[in-house]
Parts: sequence; structure tokens; C-alpha cells
Amino acid sequence: MGLTGGIGSGKSAVSARLAARGAAVIDADRIAREVVAAGTLGLAAVLAEFGPDVAAPDGSLDRPALGRVVFADPAARGRLEAIVHPLIRSETQRRIAGLAPGGIAVHDIPLLVETGATGTYDLVLVVEAPCELRLSRLAERGLPREEALARMASQASDEQRRAAADLVIDNGGSLDDLDSRVAEVWGELLTRRDAKVAAG
Ligand code: ADP
Repeated sequence: MGLTGGIGSGKSAVSARLAARGAAVIDADRIAREVVAAGTLGLAAVLAEFGPDVAAPDGSLDRPALGRVVFADPAARGRLEAIVHPLIRSETQRRIAGLAPGGIAVHDIPLLVETGATGTYDLVLVVEAPCELRLSRLAERGLPREEALARMASQASDEQRRAAADLVIDNGGSLDDLDSRVAEVWGELLTRRDAKVAAG
């Protein structure tokens, strides 16, 4: 299953609850960081392309500096993606190949709809919450409103995500409400998994 939602919608809260129930969660953001971690060929390739300005003093990737370079320059963004996307894809494939047969795998991928990959999943689950609520939850976590709004503006709209969804979790309520909704979705996943296994 692909799991997505706008920033602050509660994707991480949902994926943690699904993991607690036994799902194998593959975290796209984490893989994106790992392929350019210290000592990787990915990091060497990014530094070779973008130069020492995007390296931190300890030699690791200065992500904010790289972000500033590619945010304003689509061509630079394309060069970055040409390096990291194949690495992310092959690492994701490697994780999927290592999953137990018959298990439930959840790919937590913030930009699932934006990357047009919705067709590659048995199911797409979208987490939603009203924009103001997301902004206030993110502010509590220390992300300034302006920054959160800029991120939201660069992401797909709620309508676009909903159009791609097989299942929707409305996370506009309490964490207890979220627990109950995740329990329902988990039941649905087990049913669909059993049907798929039975169908061979
Ligand atoms: P995302 O991964 O989609 O960016 P998170 O799961 O990190 O969103 O949620 C954003 C913030 O809101 C986190 O601090 C999280 O703990 C909090 N949060 C998520 N769902 C709820 C909820 N139902 N009630 C209160 N806080 C919530």
C-alpha cells in the first residue's frame, strides 16, 4: 500500500500505528536521506555535481544549502534528481524484495501523487486534515507557519490526492479517533490481503 498525505496531515502518526500492528513500513524520506548519507557513493556524486558549497564542515551533505540551490533552479533540481532518484528506486526495490511473502507492506511516501506512481500499489491510502489544523500541529512541532505554507503550496492539493485514494483517513480529530480509524483500515488491509493470497 502507498501511504501519502500533505505535510502535517498525520502520515507519520498513521505509519507508526500501522507498523505497531505489524505492517512493514518503508519510509521514502528516510531512504532519500540514507542514499546521500556520509560515506555513500550518492553523497560523492552530489558533491561532485554541486561542489563544496553544499557540503557541511564535517563533509556530510548540507541539506538546507542544497535545498536553496535546487529550489530556485529547475535545471539544478533535475540534475539532483537524476543522481538520487535511481538510488532511491533501487534501494526501495531492494527493501521490497526482502519483505516476507503474505505480509502487508506500507510505502510511506509524501510525494506519491506528485510523482505519478499511484498505479504501482495495490492500494493508496491518503491521510487528510484541515489546513489550519495541520498548520497549528506543525507550529507546535516547531515548523513556522510561512515555511509550512510554502511546502503545502509545492505539494499536490487535497483534491488531487483524494482523486488518487482508495482509502482516506480523516485525521481532523483526536489521536484516539485516529487509533480507531487506523484499526478499521488495518482490518480492511487484512481482508484485502487474504483475498489477494486466496486469488494466488
Ligand atoms: P506528517 O508525517 O503527515 O507530516 P505527522 O504525523 O508528523 O504529519 O503529524 C504532524 C504533527 O501533528 C505531529 O506533531 C503529530 O504528533 C501531530 N498529530 C498528528 N495527528 C494528530 C491528532 N489526531 N491530534 C493531535 N496531534 C496530531
